[in-house]
Amino acid sequence: MAQPCFSCGGRFELYEGPTHKYMLSSPGCWKAYGELLAREYENPLLFGAAHRLTVDAYALQHPGDPSDRRATQSVWIHYAALHLAMVEEVSHASIPAKMQTLASKPLPPLPPAPQSHSITLADVVAEEASNHVPAVQRWAASAYSAWEPLRRDVSRLLADL
Ligand SMILES: [Zn+2]
Repeated sequence: MAQPCFSCGGRFELYEGPTHKYMLSSPGCWKAYGELLAREYENPLLFGAAHRLTVDAYALQHPGDPSDRRATQSVWIHYAALHLAMVEEVSHASIPAKMQTLASKPLPPLPPAPQSHSITLADVVAEEASNHVPAVQRWAASAYSAWEPLRRDVSRLLADL
């Protein structure tokens, strides 16, 4: 029995359980995310290639309550991280320091969240571990393009760091 996550739209098992404090999702989606993270923590190659993108894609597809400052900040910062990784091709290891700096800046309000996502966590979970990295890359590209309205501001914010 599967149920769509109200935020990302991916279909996950019906499940009663906890969710993140501000990256709001269905409990089944949050559980599947934990399992995907476990797959990455168990495999250093997957972790190195995909973990940065996984964390950012999940955050962008679960923007939460736009009146919650932590939620809004999370979207800006994870979008910036994907921009650095995918557009500027900055090494994943050097991205957290830039995220930290960005988090200390005043960030503008967000435009409305995307209505739907073409690729979600459910698509990544359905792949074998051998396809994990390209699946995460497709997921991250989908999450990044759905938030295209942030791109100009994020380029400016990063240039000012
Ligand atoms: Zn979800």
